[in-house]
Amino acid sequence: LHFVDTKNKIKFFNNSMLGQLSGKLNLESKLRKAISNKEFKLHYQPQLECKTNKVVGVEALIRCQKFRECGISPEEFISLAEETGMILELGEWIIDAALKQLKIWHNKGYNNLLISINIAPQQFQQDDFALKIEQLLQKHQIEAKYLELEITERTVIKDVNYTVEVLNELKKLGVLVSIDDFGTGYSSLEYLNRFALDKLKIDKSFVHNNNNLKIVKTIIVMGKNLGLEVVAEGVETQQELEFLINNNCNYYQGYYFSKPKKAVEVEKYFEK
Ligand code: C2E
Ligand code: MG
Ligand code: MG
Ligand code: MG
Repeated sequence: LHFVDTKNKIKFFNNSMLGQLSGKLNLESKLRKAISNKEFKLHYQPQLECKTNKVVGVEALIRCQKFRECGISPEEFISLAEETGMILELGEWIIDAALKQLKIWHNKGYNNLLISINIAPQQFQQDDFALKIEQLLQKHQIEAKYLELEITERTVIKDVNYTVEVLNELKKLGVLVSIDDFGTGYSSLEYLNRFALDKLKIDKSFVHNNNNLKIVKTIIVMGKNLGLEVVAEGVETQQELEFLINNNCNYYQGYYFSKPKKAVEVEKYFEK
């Protein structure tokens, strides 16, 4: 089997490559359909202050029934959305839906609740990203200080000068920014000084692994020295939590307290 590509080069395909390609095309059209039919929902995972064990906020995490049935994880369909550019439309829906839910909670009296939203590199890189955020906050009548954007090292290293600019705009707006999965990427530590950041989220792979506890300790101390708050993700055991408390980590989230849940289910953890 072969085909001729746009540069008139003959390429050969074997059956397995063809299978992969058609699987991907199929998935891509499923994703496109899911986006236009709005077949997504958000789940929310509580974020707690280590010192008081109080819920201070939630992280919004996308879910899709259709993909779950085919065994496709959020990580997988998000990465396909990134590859195909569909993340821009999907990402905007996510921010809008999350802020809408946050407003409902604020109106119910959970006034100080914060929401964290994952932002893909292309979303962050689009023109007027900060303005888009400002407009969505305006639309939902939410103060900027209740919104936290989670970006990854992948996002910040794309164009460092541009990142500095956007982060400064976001800072001026008053939204919080955290580096998600901290420690797993390839960004330079020097950037932590240049970027207007608020928090570091220690990747769950460090939190879980006993061999990595020195790394966790070090990230907490470093974060504090740089004036950043530190969040540990993926906390699954009492022992992990105690370690974090003893080492003055600011916040944690993980299955130990709660998995990500539907809005109505997560509400029971909130305090007025
Ligand atoms: P992330 O932002 O680092 O989110 C943390 C992931 O760890 C979530 O997986 C969460 O369900 C899972 N998790 C939380 N606590 C624990 C724990 O105690 N143990 C373990 N093993 N896992 C835990 P999820 O929801 O499958 O999301 C995976 C990734 O997909 C996210 O990683 C994020 O990179 C991406 N993602 C999810 N939702 C969105 C979204 O709305 N927008 C964007 N751009 N990316 C998203
Ligand atoms: Mg996250
Ligand atoms: Mg993470
Ligand atoms: Mg992740």
